Amino acid sequence: MAKIQMKTPLVEMDGDEMTRVIWQMIKDILIYPYVDLKSEYYDLGLEYRNETNDQVTFDSAEATKKYGVAVKCATITPNAARMTEYNLKEMWKSPNGTIRAILDGTVFRTPIIVKGVTPFIPSWTKPITIARHAYGDVYKNTEMQVPEGSKCEIVCTDKNGNEIRQLIHEFNGTAGVIQGLHNTDKSISSFARSCFNYALDMKQDLWFASKDTISKRYDHRFKDIFNDIYEAEYKEKFENAGIEYFYTLIDDAVARVIRSEGGYIWACKNYDGDVMSDMVATAYGSLAMMTSVLVSPDGVYEYEAAHGTVQRHYYKHLKGESTSTNSVATLFAWSGALRKRGELDGLKDLCDFADSLEKATIQTIEEGIMTGDLYLLSNLPEKKKVDTKTFLEEIAVRLEKII
Ligand code: NAP
Ligand code: MG
Repeated sequence: MAKIQMKTPLVEMDGDEMTRVIWQMIKDILIYPYVDLKSEYYDLGLEYRNETNDQVTFDSAEATKKYGVAVKCATITPNAARMTEYNLKEMWKSPNGTIRAILDGTVFRTPIIVKGVTPFIPSWTKPITIARHAYGDVYKNTEMQVPEGSKCEIVCTDKNGNEIRQLIHEFNGTAGVIQGLHNTDKSISSFARSCFNYALDMKQDLWFASKDTISKRYDHRFKDIFNDIYEAEYKEKFENAGIEYFYTLIDDAVARVIRSEGGYIWACKNYDGDVMSDMVATAYGSLAMMTSVLVSPDGVYEYEAAHGTVQRHYYKHLKGESTSTNSVATLFAWSGALRKRGELDGLKDLCDFADSLEKATIQTIEEGIMTGDLYLLSNLPEKKKVDTKTFLEEIAVRLEKII
């Protein structure tokens, strides 16, 4: 069979440890035999980031802006232990943080659902995608412990030097704590546009919630910006796509989420997203089955797995021991990027291939062939644990029959 041809390259960001091993296997076993892959390759492995003083990360983000689609492997975010392990010149920043800042994007995380792995909330039969606003609020706060007798005020000095003061609290008879938070209209607007674009892309409803009844200025600003952008830029598009934008109070949102069957995108303020994404990921079963896509407000997409480099498995692999690492989220990052490339370039066969790859993967697991993490979770009556490479080869066997 002739290989599928591509028009525009996609940006390929290689990474570290076990996911780097999986990356190569995925390409060799499931991509190269079928697709004449056009990619612009950036090695974000820690060694090369160190060698280039992290320039390669910046270059890969710029290339993503240029081409519009990227696929990224998990990468090490250095800590003290990695400084010695890799003999680093500096404690380089998280590549994901750097890329997100350059693309001004929002991260959408979606679980991959398979028969045999039942969510802890059994009514969640469809995926819930969480979009977390990754700027500001308590993550960029200024806070103080203040002694008894303190009078604390919030002071805003405008560009003409005029001061506006508001009392926070007078600490009579007790010491206490205070906190200053901020966000920007620009960041909130980018977040809103990324969410509206992604909802249109997925043809799913978008939910957004905050505590605007209590926070009448701060949270209310989020509500208003979302609403204004929706009315001005997206209302018609949503109506044409048959989807809905739905705003509610955060308390009401969590109650509705628990009662729901899934199948929508839930946009969360920074803290809500931090907490709720862990809850949702756990409820669906496994971090290894969670995909992640960074979407910029102007429609640039970077796909990856939500998990890390699976260090423990890598050390086993280095010792020559057999591993059973789950490649599904990384594989879905590839299929997501190939499908998006196909959509943007009008290549139906590339989109169809991405669909087939996902179908073959799910079929493999639902036929009882899976990696160790899923083997522990699955309630299929007949199941078999296979090693990292065998799992991918089993997908290839099924893929051959589908395409
Ligand atoms: P991790 O790589 O996600 O792994 C944590 C544990 O989760 C693993 O030890 C494994 O459990 C299980 N696991 C995760 N992914 C799996 C998979 N695909 N298949 C099977 N089991 C899987 O997180 P970490 O150990 O905290 O971090 C390792 C490195 O990854 C760090 O250097 C961190 O900086 C980096 N990281 C990168 C990203 C990213 O690039 N997006 C995200 C998070 C972390 P068992 O060992 O019990 O089998
Ligand atoms: Mg969290």
